[in-house]
Amino acid sequence: MRMLETQCVISGGGPAGLMTGYLLARQGIDVIVLEKHADFLRDFRGDTIHPSTLEIFHELGLLDELLTRPHQKIRQASVTISGNNYKIADFGQLPTLCKYVAMMPQWDFLDYLVKAACEFPNFKLLRLTKAVNLIDQDGQIAGVNASDKDGHLVIHADLTIAADGRDSALRDASGLTLDDIGAPIDVFWMRLPKTPSQAPVSLGQVGSSGFLVQLDRGDYWQCALPFQKGEADIIRAEGIAAFRQRVAGIAPALSTSVASLTSWDQVKLLTVQVNRLRTWWRDGLLCIGDAAHAMSPVGGVGINLAIQDAVATARLVGPSLSNRAIRSQHLAQVQKRRAWPASMTQNAQVIAHRFVLMPALTAKSSPRAPLFIKLLNGFPLLRVITARALGLGLRPEHWKEPAESRSSTIQN
Ligand SMILES: Cc1cc2nc3c(=O)[nH]c(=O)nc-3n(C[C@H](O)[C@H](O)[C@H](O)COP(=O)(O)OP(=O)(O)OC[C@H]3O[C@@H](n4cnc5c(N)ncnc54)[C@H](O)[C@@H]3O)c2cc1C
Repeated sequence: MRMLETQCVISGGGPAGLMTGYLLARQGIDVIVLEKHADFLRDFRGDTIHPSTLEIFHELGLLDELLTRPHQKIRQASVTISGNNYKIADFGQLPTLCKYVAMMPQWDFLDYLVKAACEFPNFKLLRLTKAVNLIDQDGQIAGVNASDKDGHLVIHADLTIAADGRDSALRDASGLTLDDIGAPIDVFWMRLPKTPSQAPVSLGQVGSSGFLVQLDRGDYWQCALPFQKGEADIIRAEGIAAFRQRVAGIAPALSTSVASLTSWDQVKLLTVQVNRLRTWWRDGLLCIGDAAHAMSPVGGVGINLAIQDAVATARLVGPSLSNRAIRSQHLAQVQKRRAWPASMTQNAQVIAHRFVLMPALTAKSSPRAPLFIKLLNGFPLLRVITARALGLGLRPEHWKEPAESRSSTIQN
């Protein structure tokens, strides 16, 4: 049987896992990150990098290089309801260096994080390696059992971090209690061709046949069509032609682009979950990111929250992990710091599901803009508040270099 020993093993090479891995390695801690896939080229993982995440990259000295990767900048957000455009957020007034949301393919973002982390000899990413379950020694978690192409791998660690997303295997193995908040929607996602003559549009289009998120990705449109949970098969049964009509009905400017949709293989179903752990930790184990609190796509804030969890974890747990003196109280501190922003954000998403999305999805005629949307459009100051809520989130984290870390471990 193959065995490895490390100070921290992290299951999941998503935003939460890789950022935590990077920050712990930067403090000189031995880290192994397990990622079950070979690469980060998954279909749609959310491509938004928020101003508060960009600020952390600035604090880490990584921003300039990150921004050499292809991205688009969203400086203002607006929504079109029954043909009328309403401004809802203006990121220009944020107290951050980058006053925009960067739209960067998540594989580029994660690839960059891996590149930065690999500068530290104490960071290791094991691809095609799946965390299977926990090593439980009399109630103390002492690492993970994993599997890769060569079979079974045992990894002993002072701390195990479950950052393996909304279907976390380690969270399930931990016995921690998950509260399902529920989400009334699922999402169909698709790419549509963009012609040079098509003008930039608002992020959301609301019409009598539903709601469409339409993101400008340079040479294509990334579109998400939310619908009532459980209706995927009904929509598919209506046929791809009816689906094209549904999309074009919401966003008439896409009438030509939708012709490219000829098969359901081009339309991916993304299942939305909103849930959270009551307790994020056990002795030797900490859950973060979607593994601790699965987020709805509403507001596109899940990646930012995952990154914020990672920064709080590295800051609150790093020093004791470094001294091999990790205790449950350090893990509890992470939950104490991050549970409030996560649950408040989820609550806001639930309110948006109920009062914005569902009325738009069930409207019988052309929907009208709700009062708060009209107020946002009319009062620029209010749009600064929405920009703060979306762009920074609640309790944004910052990185301060712990003493004697970076310079001693980075390879020149
Ligand atoms: C439809 C939809 C659209 C969304 N759009 C956005 C958006 O635009 N912007 C945004 O900010 N958020 C968005 N979100 C939310 C966002 O995707 C998540 O909140 C965020 O990715 C969470 O990051 P994470 O690192 O915790 O988990 P994940 O990103 O899920 O990463 C988990 C990683 O763990 C790996 N893994 C899983 N199991 C194992 C295992 N057993 N062993 C090893 N590796 C494992 C996975 O392959 C994955 O790489 C969206 C969510 C949904 C459902």
